[in-house]
Amino acid sequence: MIQKTALICGVGGQDGGYLARFLISKGYTVWGSSRDAQGASFHNLKLLALASQVKTITIQPEDFKSVFIALKKAAPDEVYYLAGQSSVGLSFELPAETIQSSVIGTLNMLEACKLLDKPVKFYNAGSSESFGNTQGLAASEQTPFIPQSPYALAKASAYWLVNNYRDAYGIFACTGILFNHESPLRPRRFVTQKIIQAAKRIHQGSKERLVLGNLDISRDWGWAPEYVEAMWLMLQQPKAEDFIIATGQTNTLEEFVRIAFEKLNLNWRDHVDQSAEFMRPTELMVSKANVSKAKDILGWSAKTKLDLVIENMLTKDF
Ligand code: GDP
Repeated sequence: MIQKTALICGVGGQDGGYLARFLISKGYTVWGSSRDAQGASFHNLKLLALASQVKTITIQPEDFKSVFIALKKAAPDEVYYLAGQSSVGLSFELPAETIQSSVIGTLNMLEACKLLDKPVKFYNAGSSESFGNTQGLAASEQTPFIPQSPYALAKASAYWLVNNYRDAYGIFACTGILFNHESPLRPRRFVTQKIIQAAKRIHQGSKERLVLGNLDISRDWGWAPEYVEAMWLMLQQPKAEDFIIATGQTNTLEEFVRIAFEKLNLNWRDHVDQSAEFMRPTELMVSKANVSKAKDILGWSAKTKLDLVIENMLTKDF
């Protein structure tokens, strides 16, 4: 079997780390990029004991020259574009940076793929946020996007760029429209990790209060290490297509909090406050997924549902 080479842009993040581990286990040569590969700590890769197995390279996604040179050097068969500002909440503070990194970054990647002599398969990290409010209906791959944050708008635009390059130039490019996916590598700015870490500290005797925003929102929370396999499967198909990746189960944030505290024999109501500080200017209340396409075509479905996601986050190292 010929050994394949993959380039993971944004290898320092949660998904980058798990994808690197997955591809290495499949025998890939893995390159991983960061904005400053010499200066980056690659903390997650160290936690996963992968630091010596990933060839690191600098890519500034907004700078076409940097993208093109890196793709020439790594000469990948597959590119996974996971870079870019990834928090919806932060996108209200950094709208321009969010749009630049996602939209211009994706555009530069696609242009470079188009210009390279060797055919490259391209995966783009899309997001369920692009759908906006679907009025409680499960979103499918046919559901139109009505983005409600700078992040959602950036992800929707990148999705359409991928679509256009696929149609116009025949590039094997696709977008995984991933719903929220969590793990111990999730940074603490995301609500699940914020809850898990606070619940653990309170369980150990901390007297702190956990202050959250809107507890009525609902999300489909999955297990990130499983989701990277779906990314890879998309690039192994005979035809490039976009897929929703989710568990198919939607829960409120209040349920997440309750279960996390209950697993530590705590009553969440004794420890949690709400504050407008953590509420967003516009909020996606319910996020729901129709997961049938991924099941039918990729043969992929989520094994880890909410209860186990929480259990794993409380007990696993990564
Ligand atoms: P993202 O919205 O996909 O970037 O993921 P988050 O984990 O940041 O937020 C998920 C949902 O939890 C959003 O609807 C937030 O408004 C809601 N939420 C409620 N309280 C908090 C909080 O204290 N921090 C964060 N990050 N989100 C919160």
